[in-house]
Amino acid sequence: MSPSWNESHGHLPVTIDPIQLAERGARLTGTLPLKSMARLAQHCLDGSGDVFVDLAFERGVGETVFLMHGTLRVRLITGCQRCLEGMEVNLEAAPSLVLLRSGAAQELSGDAADTLVADKPVSLISLVEDELLLVLPMVSMHELSQCPAKEYVTEKAGTDIRAVKGEKKNPFAVLSGLKKAR
Ligand SMILES: [Zn+2]
Repeated sequence: MSPSWNESHGHLPVTIDPIQLAERGARLTGTLPLKSMARLAQHCLDGSGDVFVDLAFERGVGETVFLMHGTLRVRLITGCQRCLEGMEVNLEAAPSLVLLRSGAAQELSGDAADTLVADKPVSLISLVEDELLLVLPMVSMHELSQCPAKEYVTEKAGTDIRAVKGEKKNPFAVLSGLKKAR
């Protein structure tokens, strides 16, 4: 199935009524600017770029259960927490939500899918951002062998061996400077 990329690319609605979309079996495909997602963008060194969105809405079991599933993708530049240099992180979320109206008895039992009570329109940006935050790694670091700060790390994780190695600049000093600035 090929998405209707050309029809909706760049024209995703600001708010959506997920159940209404599911009733007509809609599919949303397009991009949202990363900088519109403040909670996600704060993890990025560079907030430019777009989030790719491909979400399908459909009827589930019975009259009151609807489904939303799809793929969200974004390429972030985040700071390696060891060396503070930028590093690329490709985030991909595959949300699968059961959409219910409030008060509707949940007809699915034992299903692992998350539930979203959607009585009224919701912000598409918040919905997408929430799903991406769920897959954001808690700690982003280069592979040690690739990390510019590797020479400061001994076998004991995080030990600063600057005193042994000599005069080189300590990247952790930059980190404490950043913390104070916030
Ligand atoms: Zn690094």
